[in-house]
Amino acid sequence: MKNRRDFLKTAAVASATIATTGLLTGCDGFDADPQSPVVFTPGKPLPWINWAGNQSCFPSARLAPAHEDELVAMLKGANGAGGTIRAVGASHSFSAVVPTNDTLITTDLLSGVISHDPTSVQAEIWAGTRMHNLGPMLHEIGQALPNQPDMDYPAMGGAIACSAHATGKGFGSMSSYVTGLTLATPSGELLECSATSHAAVFQAARTSLGALGIVSRLTLQNLPAFKLVETNRVEKTEDVLDDFAARIAHHRHFEFLPLPHTSLCATVTTDIAKDGDVNVGEEDSSAAHTLRKVYNALSWLPAIGDAAYEKVLTMALGGAGSEIRTGQSFEVFPHVRTTRFREMEYTVPAELGAACVREILQTIKDKKIPVCFPLEYRYVKADDIWLSMFEGRDGIAISVHQYGDLDYKAYFSQIEPIFWKYQGRPHWGKIHTLKEPQLAALYPHHWQDFKELRQSLDPAGRMLNAHLKSLFGIQNSVNSGS
Ligand SMILES: Cc1cc2nc3c(=O)[nH]c(=O)nc-3n(C[C@H](O)[C@H](O)[C@H](O)COP(=O)(O)OP(=O)(O)OC[C@H]3O[C@@H](n4cnc5c(N)ncnc54)[C@H](O)[C@@H]3O)c2cc1C
Repeated sequence: MKNRRDFLKTAAVASATIATTGLLTGCDGFDADPQSPVVFTPGKPLPWINWAGNQSCFPSARLAPAHEDELVAMLKGANGAGGTIRAVGASHSFSAVVPTNDTLITTDLLSGVISHDPTSVQAEIWAGTRMHNLGPMLHEIGQALPNQPDMDYPAMGGAIACSAHATGKGFGSMSSYVTGLTLATPSGELLECSATSHAAVFQAARTSLGALGIVSRLTLQNLPAFKLVETNRVEKTEDVLDDFAARIAHHRHFEFLPLPHTSLCATVTTDIAKDGDVNVGEEDSSAAHTLRKVYNALSWLPAIGDAAYEKVLTMALGGAGSEIRTGQSFEVFPHVRTTRFREMEYTVPAELGAACVREILQTIKDKKIPVCFPLEYRYVKADDIWLSMFEGRDGIAISVHQYGDLDYKAYFSQIEPIFWKYQGRPHWGKIHTLKEPQLAALYPHHWQDFKELRQSLDPAGRMLNAHLKSLFGIQNSVNSGS
């Protein structure tokens, strides 16, 4: 059976055969790593840069508390902490939720499992624990996260702050697994919050954007450890959209990644593993690079660009293309991300997802937007968390991406208004341009509740950077932080 790696490699060779060498000048030798937006100057503060390389700042203080009492002391101004204070996890957000030129507090040293209960299958962890460390730690105590995103680099506190999510009809975002948390407030109080203790703070702090203080501990509702089997295929996007309701009903997890300028998509179907399930093929972490080579080669050909691209991919696929991965859940959920990219994602009401993604794909085609990076289409269950993108409604999260060394702004600006037409709520950790008035309308139930709670916990706005101020409609005069 041909796997996805073979499929794309064959396509790259085939496209190079179709295209003449003279037309390919400038298509090879690319690298998706972005230029660093800032450089270090000796004597000046060390720059902070996010994973995607589109956000940066020069914090005058970078602090790493190893204990809760140190965290509390820092929030009260110890160790040079002052001005705007922002928490940072793994720097994997694409939006400007982290930057400050004042105080950056990393949660890296607040890591590990604190305690666990085998009966309730809950575990209390430090909020700085990176997801890729948490999987094996939970496995040792016979537990596993119910669901995980398709990469495991974030810190749990960072993931929760932005309602990071995966896919699956029966699964909410990662914030929905949190049954309790400890919040270190801007005034240096430690609040232990749950559905029955500081309940309002709990509902706000489960997706807080880091605006309420710094979460030090999380209690997670896990499942007994389990094994998964994931099957990857290449299929027709329209067939998958027609069959989507059945697939999400019958499989534990399902998502698909439409390929712009083609009728094709990659599908990912994940279920509990059965005895006898084995790995087939091998994960191709360079697939996005190879796809780009094929696209670049063919899009340079006048007149036949899209048609030739689709034909080469279809020929190379030849009807097969399955790759199967199996193992413990924490090994199967995540994928290695070696291609640097930038991403915009909106969640639209579940019933509007198909129309929305169709309009995006048609717009890319009609406007001849030069993009080959696949889109992503995932289902997430509704929750009741105040600022969760899934608050009050099941959602389809649709993402668009661009390679890290290419300008994403022209592409994203043509797609973003489509999301607005479909009542899309932007992912807090991904690129978007919405501000307070539009956001308030998208969160009719608890936007004001969140703002009032934030104001009561942090009247001086010490946790707000410029981005958060624009989200919450707060004048810059509240605080001098960047
Ligand atoms: C390659 C890649 C793949 C991705 N895939 C997915 C995906 O599949 N699904 C998805 O939903 N998202 C995805 N994302 C986005 C990412 O998961 C989220 O933005 C996530 O929040 C990042 O976690 P982090 O630890 O890097 O947080 P950071 O980016 O460091 O911080 C994010 C926010 O959390 C706050 N914060 C951090 N720690 C704390 C704390 N302890 N207390 C309070 N606030 C805190 C920060 O102040 C900031 O506001 C992806 C990003 C990348 C780069």
